[in-house]
Amino acid sequence: MSTQLSEQSYEMEADPDVYKTLLESTRAIPWKIDWKTLRFTYIGPQIESLLGWQRDSWRSVDDWAERMHPDDRKWVVDFCVSQSQEGSDHEADYRALKSDGSYLWIRDVVHVLRNEQGEVDALIGFMFDIDERKKVEQERDCLRQELEELSYKDCLTGVANRRMLDQVLEQEWMDARRNCQPLSLVIIDIDYFKQYNDSFGHFKGDECLRQVASLLADSACRARDVVARFGGEEFVLVLPQTDAHAALTVAERCFAALQDANIPHPASPVSSQLTLSCGVATCLPNHRNSLDDFLEQADKALYKAKDGSRNCIVVAEN
Ligand code: GH3
Ligand code: MG
Ligand code: MG
Repeated sequence: MSTQLSEQSYEMEADPDVYKTLLESTRAIPWKIDWKTLRFTYIGPQIESLLGWQRDSWRSVDDWAERMHPDDRKWVVDFCVSQSQEGSDHEADYRALKSDGSYLWIRDVVHVLRNEQGEVDALIGFMFDIDERKKVEQERDCLRQELEELSYKDCLTGVANRRMLDQVLEQEWMDARRNCQPLSLVIIDIDYFKQYNDSFGHFKGDECLRQVASLLADSACRARDVVARFGGEEFVLVLPQTDAHAALTVAERCFAALQDANIPHPASPVSSQLTLSCGVATCLPNHRNSLDDFLEQADKALYKAKDGSRNCIVVAEN
């Protein structure tokens, strides 16, 4: 029985037609390149239905490189050449150009053949159509990124949420400490917002919160500044590499922007338009102070503003 089996497989190995039929009926496309001349010595006929180019138009590696998305070409060619020179089997994913001008994701799996002296003789490989899989992966990555962004955003106002604020504060605190840079915080609370809701309803109240958030975001304009909704009608500006004087300027800019917006608030005891109270604190983080103390300092300044006249900025004393 075993003799019969081995004889059968021996017969199959000896018949090149069997291999050819198998190779040319798979969905993967086989090819061979002579290493000395860098010319194709074989490519499966399936290439025509996959990419549209005539089989005999695949003459050299230049045809292969030219039929690649320009953004993929350099790294793929450099990578495949260096791996082949080293004699290492490798694979690369890239977008192949179709004869109709569109692109299709391909995975090229390459095996290096050596001669008896151990020198690279030829490259053989398979091209796999991975277009469907790549598109699913890309969609999944986009969704994941979108979800990640959403999980750090306040859904009402679109500014950073509390979760993001906690992370940013932690990072900026460490960064300021490492680089001996000042870090400033501005805590902002809308005055008599309960009365605003009572006057205009929650729907208008939400609209107002969105408008205030947008004004604050426009006022804290350096790339690393972060505006976050602390909760309810409270916002925080995190201002890295910002000293007390500059932080006060940002707070004043917020006040000016709100004044320009002129949002009516007839029920407010302090003004006919919507106003803010604001606490500003600045710190040079070191091993003797803590982030919690710093936050408390800014919060106390805000409460002083509330205890006083409201509609004002209080700068925390160091
Ligand atoms: P103060 O000047 O002392 O800050 O008074 P205030 O009325 O602004 O503060 P208080 O804490 O008494 O009330 C906050 C109000 O903010 C009450 C609450 O209904 C409203 N609020 C909190 N979150 C939202 C929200 O997401 N949408 C709306 N429309 N209102 C909110
Ligand atoms: Mg409040
Ligand atoms: Mg308030």
